[in-house]
Amino acid sequence: MAVDAHFHLDQLMVKTGFTGIHDMGTSDFYKIKLSLLIANYCNPTRFPTSSERSEIRKDHRIRLSFGNHPRIVNSNSTTTLDMFFKNVSFILASSKTVSVGECGLDTTDRPNSQNFQKQITYFEKQLSLAVQTNLPVVIHSRRDNNLNLSTLTSMVNNLP
Ligand SMILES: [Zn+2]
Repeated sequence: MAVDAHFHLDQLMVKTGFTGIHDMGTSDFYKIKLSLLIANYCNPTRFPTSSERSEIRKDHRIRLSFGNHPRIVNSNSTTTLDMFFKNVSFILASSKTVSVGECGLDTTDRPNSQNFQKQITYFEKQLSLAVQTNLPVVIHSRRDNNLNLSTLTSMVNNLP
């Protein structure tokens, strides 16, 4: 038995054209079975609708995670980001949701300092939301050790 704690069902469905998780012959080949999978939804423009979530939950192995990925911050206004954040806070209440995220910091797009500040703001809002809802967070931290230090600083300042 194996657990996949972090995968992207929305991207997988686009790539394969499937409507859910299918056994692609891997369980026979690797002699393992997936017992639990956590589908991370981190692009709020592609969150599954309520009927899509019901469809996804028919596979009893799947759990859900919802958040705003740091790379969506650079290209969106604060008005849009506030709306995205609101969407996350609502959708977390849907059943079988086990975490907030992925969220975090990512400077591989080389954002200017204003956009980096915006990333920190929306990351910390999601950390507070995780505390309020008593859910764990899925962290995305990508670039270098300085960036990881910023990620840890936000976590230390906002999480118990
Ligand atoms: Zn991911």
